[in-house]
Amino acid sequence: MPTYDYDLFTIGAGSGGVRASRIASQHGARVAVAEERYYGGTCVNVGCVPKKLLVYAGEYGHAFEDAAGFGWNVEKPTHDWKALIEAKDKEIGRLNGIYRRLLEGAGVTLFDGRATIVDAHTVEVNGQKITAERILVATGGWPELPDQPGAREYGITSNEVFYLPTFPKRVLVAGGGYIALEFASLLKGLGADVTLLYRGHQILRGFDSDVRTFVTEELVKSGINLRLNTIIERIEKSDDCLLATLTDNQAVECDAVIYAIGRKPLTANLGLEQVGVELDKNGAIKVNDQYQTSVPSIYALGDVTNRINLTPVALAEGHVLADRLYGNNQRDVNYDNIPTAVFSIPPVANVGLTEEQAREKLGKEVDIYRTSFKPMRHQLSGRDQRTMMKLVVDRATQKVIGVHMVGSDTPEMVQAIAIAMNVGATKQDFDRTIGLHPTAAEEFVTMRVKAPDPD
Ligand code: FAD
Ligand code: NDP
Repeated sequence: MPTYDYDLFTIGAGSGGVRASRIASQHGARVAVAEERYYGGTCVNVGCVPKKLLVYAGEYGHAFEDAAGFGWNVEKPTHDWKALIEAKDKEIGRLNGIYRRLLEGAGVTLFDGRATIVDAHTVEVNGQKITAERILVATGGWPELPDQPGAREYGITSNEVFYLPTFPKRVLVAGGGYIALEFASLLKGLGADVTLLYRGHQILRGFDSDVRTFVTEELVKSGINLRLNTIIERIEKSDDCLLATLTDNQAVECDAVIYAIGRKPLTANLGLEQVGVELDKNGAIKVNDQYQTSVPSIYALGDVTNRINLTPVALAEGHVLADRLYGNNQRDVNYDNIPTAVFSIPPVANVGLTEEQAREKLGKEVDIYRTSFKPMRHQLSGRDQRTMMKLVVDRATQKVIGVHMVGSDTPEMVQAIAIAMNVGATKQDFDRTIGLHPTAAEEFVTMRVKAPDPD
């Protein structure tokens, strides 16, 4: 038997890499991790966590306006972007320390530096060659910039927004997915003049069509200037601003152009192709159902495999892999009913099938329950914001197979409903549950009228 320096060498200390390494070490494996940039990875440093902090900041912008309806007399508030970024950086610094200590405390050896793969059992970090029985690639992804003139020179991505030295008062956001909606919303909440540019005719491709229509209306009502069927042709810089020329020949003056047009797996120059690890056409690592690549000693999980690019999925995959390899526990990740949310203002959340997916699977045998209403808070605030909820039900079994919602606190509700769906709750189970009053969530257990079947 060859002897290796470690049992497992993980490349990347993000959500998936940290979880797999920590659990493997706790199971008794000798584990090392290389991290080239930041402990905690994308989620902690330039993803979920700082994004949510900035969304909270943006929500205050609306809350100050709403407060007047409740008798508050608030002078026009001002916002200090630098103070927000400093507070956010302090919190992220605290979390970085926690992630590093989490690994060290579990007995994992840390290598601060970029790792590349030399052969099926060897990696190189900072000029040092290290061997391991198994290598785990958990390098995540990186935002894309297009090739249009000026895009790489003047365009930025979500990564840079988190560190902008000054607040961009006029912003152009390109894209119609998670990041575009979240950043357009939070910047609008902080007082920016925001134009959201989407190349298609309806944002949030892949989401339920009622949700797409509803959230579009809500974002426009919140003051975001939405422009559809358009992309940026070129960006130029003038003395005091950027000038983006669009494909409809119109020009937009702004202080920042943020591209949120998708992320690419971080697999370039890692040595993967040389050792025979197969990639798909987007550069994602291909794995089997045990996270094993085409080279049996090399594994991959999380965003670098470009399947379901969410932190809880990377965490679950890392945990399962460590349990399977070192914990004598051959369990699988449950990929059913994964809830997701777009933290726009208002947010969107869903779990299970869209109506379109349900009809494709079950034909006409689908019951739809739909409601929309003005939340109680906005009866007094005067804000023109509505909430919508939708249940997709399998007519034959009466199981709830899709839940969709747009409105305040949606992500908190949908997480809880995902549990009910995982245990196969039926519409009748929802109906016989007593509501919690007064909440928006109680509407989920009081929807009684089926939407008419489509022709
Ligand atoms: P990552 O967390 O990206 O970790 C990869 C790590 O590998 C990084 O630390 C990187 O520095 C390191 N690395 C890369 N190459 C090397 C190398 N050669 N050597 C050493 N180290 C290397 N998901 C949610 O579930 N909810 C959200 O609200 C959410 N919001 C998001 C907001 C934004 C703006 C973004 C960009 C993403 C968001 N995500 C969210 C997605 C989430 O961040 C990712 O799905 C998750 O971080 C993936 O984890 P991972 O372990 O696969 O990779
Ligand atoms: P998405 O894939 O969600 O959205 C990309 C958007 O950009 C789509 O609207 C797409 O349009 C559009 N687009 C793609 N290419 C171009 C182009 N060349 N020019 C103009 N528009 C283009 O990617 P994001 O960057 O928003 O986020 C990446 C992933 O990170 C998400 O899919 C998600 O998995 C994860 N994430 C999760 C979050 C959460 O859980 N809250 C938050 C943020 C990110 P089209 O639809 O027409 O293809």
